[in-house]
Amino acid sequence: MTPITPMTPFSPVSPTAEAPALARRRRVYMFAVGAGTLLVFLGSLVASPHDLYLRSFGPVLVLLGLADLWWLWSRRPLHVAEYGGYAVLAAATMAQIALLSLLPVPPGLYPNSSPYWTLVCTCIIGFLALPPRWAWGANLALLSVCLLVPWLTLSAYAFDHPLLFLRLQGSVLIVNVLLGSMVTLRTQIVETGRSEQTMRVLAFTDPLTGLPNRRAVSPAVEALLADHQRGVPGTLHLIDIDHFKHINDEHGHDVGDLVLMDVARLLSACVTLPGDALPTVGRWGGEEFIVIMPGTDRTLSQRRATALLQEFRRSSWPHGLKVTVSIGSSTVATDDTFGTLLFRADQALYRAKAAGRDQVVLAQET
Ligand code: GH3
Ligand code: MG
Ligand code: MG
Repeated sequence: MTPITPMTPFSPVSPTAEAPALARRRRVYMFAVGAGTLLVFLGSLVASPHDLYLRSFGPVLVLLGLADLWWLWSRRPLHVAEYGGYAVLAAATMAQIALLSLLPVPPGLYPNSSPYWTLVCTCIIGFLALPPRWAWGANLALLSVCLLVPWLTLSAYAFDHPLLFLRLQGSVLIVNVLLGSMVTLRTQIVETGRSEQTMRVLAFTDPLTGLPNRRAVSPAVEALLADHQRGVPGTLHLIDIDHFKHINDEHGHDVGDLVLMDVARLLSACVTLPGDALPTVGRWGGEEFIVIMPGTDRTLSQRRATALLQEFRRSSWPHGLKVTVSIGSSTVATDDTFGTLLFRADQALYRAKAAGRDQVVLAQET
């Protein structure tokens, strides 16, 4: 028999472009970590002897940055780099602010805004890397520690210029709340879009077989009618399982369902031949299926339908059942509508049943 080309399986949730998106994210992190590590490295080289933070933590941060870069470069799990990176930055920010608060203040240095902008950057990474709820929790905890420590330790860092310092802290807080609100809003919009997409897919999918349902095949039939206007033939097949009620009655509804799923798989896998335009397979209702074959004239459609009957006869079915189908086919004629095309296929199917089943009948040409 001519080799069969499997049809693209219909999947209720289309495969997303997650891999390229992840790769893009990884590149952004590598750039950010690379730039940050370089800055810390240069900062450590030129740090004044007073800058205990950069002098003691700088080399550690550079090493951790290089480790993070290696992790990202070697395509290890991205979320580990994200969570780890956030944890390291948060710890470094807290250490920087604690040192500034606890150590004597070099004259003319304060209020030093740099640790607070590091804090903003850390919170941005938190909002980008963590799920929004975690990000809010972690960032608020981090902000609380970093904003309160200078006051609780009665540090000159805060008390030398209390108003200026409060203004700085207030700006940091506002930037973070605005940022977090934007991220939360964006996440909600994306999630709403996703659930609408899922609802749309479910509304057009038969839950048992995963095939497009009656509503979902209409565009394919409309396309078939439009093809005919351009001189391209096309055929609609209605396929009904023979004596399906007996299967339910003798083996139970569950076995009936298994048979329906196998029928859907068989139809999806074997209705095309190499070079054919892809057909659309749908569940028309109950034990009846519809196959829309573009580019198929009467002769070709008879050949395809006959091959399909043979495929049913030689397939193995649950419980050693014998499953056959009857097929009514109508090829698009001038002035056809969805209704007339379907009516002729239905009549042909009726004749196939009346003539003894397990056969194909082509509708009369109009
Ligand atoms: P014919 O050869 O004339 O088509 O006979 P038939 O027994 O296949 O047709 P009939 O219309 O008498 O019975 C169809 C049966 O299909 C009746 C219905 O219970 C069953 N059916 C419809 N949908 C489902 C389903 O989703 N699962 C199962 N298990 N059975 C279904
Ligand atoms: Mg039937
Ligand atoms: Mg039926």
